[in-house]
Amino acid sequence: MIKINKTRLREKVRSFSRFGDNGNGGITRLSLSEPALQARKELICRCRKLGMEIKTDDLGDIYAIRKGTEDLPAIVMGSHLDSVVNGGNYDGVLGVLTGLEVIETLCAGNRPTRHPVGVMVWTNEEGARFDPAMMCSGIVTGHFDKDTMMHSKDPEGVCFGEALAESDFAGSRENRLNPRDYAGYLELHIEQGPVLETMKKEIGVVSGVVGMVNYEFTVTGVSDHAGTTPQKTRRDALYAASGVIVKLWDELEKIDDELVFTMGRLNVHPNVHTVIPDEVRFTLDARHQSPGIIRKVVEVIKNLPHEVKGCSVEAKELWARDTVEFDKPFVDAVRDASDELGCSYLEMYSGAGHDAQYVAGYVPCGMIFVPSHNGHSHCPEEYTPIELCANGANVMLNALLALDVKKS
Ligand SMILES: [Zn+2]
Repeated sequence: MIKINKTRLREKVRSFSRFGDNGNGGITRLSLSEPALQARKELICRCRKLGMEIKTDDLGDIYAIRKGTEDLPAIVMGSHLDSVVNGGNYDGVLGVLTGLEVIETLCAGNRPTRHPVGVMVWTNEEGARFDPAMMCSGIVTGHFDKDTMMHSKDPEGVCFGEALAESDFAGSRENRLNPRDYAGYLELHIEQGPVLETMKKEIGVVSGVVGMVNYEFTVTGVSDHAGTTPQKTRRDALYAASGVIVKLWDELEKIDDELVFTMGRLNVHPNVHTVIPDEVRFTLDARHQSPGIIRKVVEVIKNLPHEVKGCSVEAKELWARDTVEFDKPFVDAVRDASDELGCSYLEMYSGAGHDAQYVAGYVPCGMIFVPSHNGHSHCPEEYTPIELCANGANVMLNALLALDVKKS
């Protein structure tokens, strides 16, 4: 089986870790910031040297394509080059650099493909500078409205549209990923969790992205003086909310071992140490691949009492997403390539969101995970040994070649 060059891949990872280097092992490479633009320019320069044709769409998404031998739609490998504040050197960028290494391997071996094959970069995946996350894959696939997104402002008041216009990366809308010109999309990504490493597996064959629900709870009581209000007559919203949180945890824990849920935000009003809280808001995020399990979560929420300790309890769904299933031929190609390369693998769903989840259902797609050391991500400790990065790149290369033979 054809293999990528590990030394060359290591050089790529090291080289791109310069852009936005924080000096602590991590990077800050916010979307369309100076370091992000430098990384984009470096990628384009390397793709041009390989003889690839470069296009950008009206959102600054980059498409670098190597010609195929037949008049067929392209298969692209991609991810993102932006990071969160003080993020790591693997999230997103590894998917782009392994894609580049795959193309470089094909070029070095004079190996033609029937389909045009290429590398792509999505703009503003993290949503760390311009909200929301996965903004441009969301626009391209019809999940978000472009005009609204163009007005999304960073903390300094700069709109996404302004930053994009200044970047010189905005191209033509016709160049957007679309089902006519593209036969497939493959995304390699770090797992961002500890499962693969714990189970000693080299590759995650990603079946899809888990569905989730996000609720906000409001518990309303009465504010009063901390010193003069008798304990027995109090309607303390925080006390009531604590009971609701414990009840939710106890009930949800029983549903399924693979269900993950988080009550991650708690706002107490007025949040003054001498005042009984009159309002508490908290969120619940719950994720699982089975819609039936998510329905059970919603049932638990619906069955909560509307009154606890003299306080009212309301639950409101903020948003939800259905489980996304990747295309079978792509999932099969990733599994078969792992098998043939002798890589141990685990079939799994992604708990985190990725651009591929929006691409699914629009252009056939699949994902490959590589292990994250200690599960760390979005921090300088984010790390995947180069051997495991290389395994992932080899799986992507061979999955791509298999799809190239099969797909029309
Ligand atoms: Zn990512």
